[in-house]
Amino acid sequence: TFRIHIAALRDSGLRHATLLTFQDLSEQRVIERMRVDFVANASHELRTPLASLLGFVETLQGPARNDERARERFLGIMREQGLRMARLVDDLLSLSRIEQRAHVAPDTPVDLAGIAREIVDSLTLMARERQVALVLKTPREALQVPGDRDELLRLMENLVENAIKYGKPGGEVAVTVDAGESEASFSVRDDGPGIAPEHLPRLTERFYRVDTAASREAGGTGLGLAIVKHIVLRHRGRLTIESKSGEGATFRAILPRFEAGRTNG
Ligand code: ADP
Repeated sequence: TFRIHIAALRDSGLRHATLLTFQDLSEQRVIERMRVDFVANASHELRTPLASLLGFVETLQGPARNDERARERFLGIMREQGLRMARLVDDLLSLSRIEQRAHVAPDTPVDLAGIAREIVDSLTLMARERQVALVLKTPREALQVPGDRDELLRLMENLVENAIKYGKPGGEVAVTVDAGESEASFSVRDDGPGIAPEHLPRLTERFYRVDTAASREAGGTGLGLAIVKHIVLRHRGRLTIESKSGEGATFRAILPRFEAGRTNG
């Protein structure tokens, strides 16, 4: 679909010209469609815990008014629903902040190996709870990329958390940082059920989940990989996902290194 602009031009010699400009509308339509879907999805995701929260408030004000045991249990559930809404709002805000900065590539030197170590340390407890062995392989020396430290921490955290959540309980999650000539990569491999090929192209879409119940159960918002994708794009890098059903998954972020000869600072 095209929109056609027609403008009549006349120069001082009274010659006429007509200027035709064509604008491709199909892309604009797709963006508009995505925006509408996004607002609908976000509202729905918030509405569900909110309805549950209000339901329990009413029960506590009415039928369960004097039931001490029910009150304890319901307050626990209400707290969970509140936390879920808070996580969702936090993720929505993170995503919109990253998008707002999309046109400015971050340029502070960040040591990928160092932050991979930090993330592995901070997720050791979570891994232990699922009896997952977290194995880290990084070069010994610092490996700097032009980046935003908080965003890169977030990127790694989301990928490693997913591998622990969706990987095999009692399995292994390998976190690897590699240095190439002009690029550096950060990859996370698990040995869980993996992802069927038909899901792969849509995996980084907002709110896209392979198994919605499993994601909610694990406390997921459905925004983790959308955030990862936008962080990688802002860093002028790329994200690859390799997986076959039943054979685990590997997520890899490939980022440009500092150009040779450029001082890191
Ligand atoms: P969520 O909050 O649901 O974890 P994400 O955007 O992080 O949202 O992930 C989207 C979906 O991708 C998840 O719900 C899950 O179905 C799938 N997924 C992500 N990582 C993995 C993985 N390592 N193995 C299998 N499935 C995964």
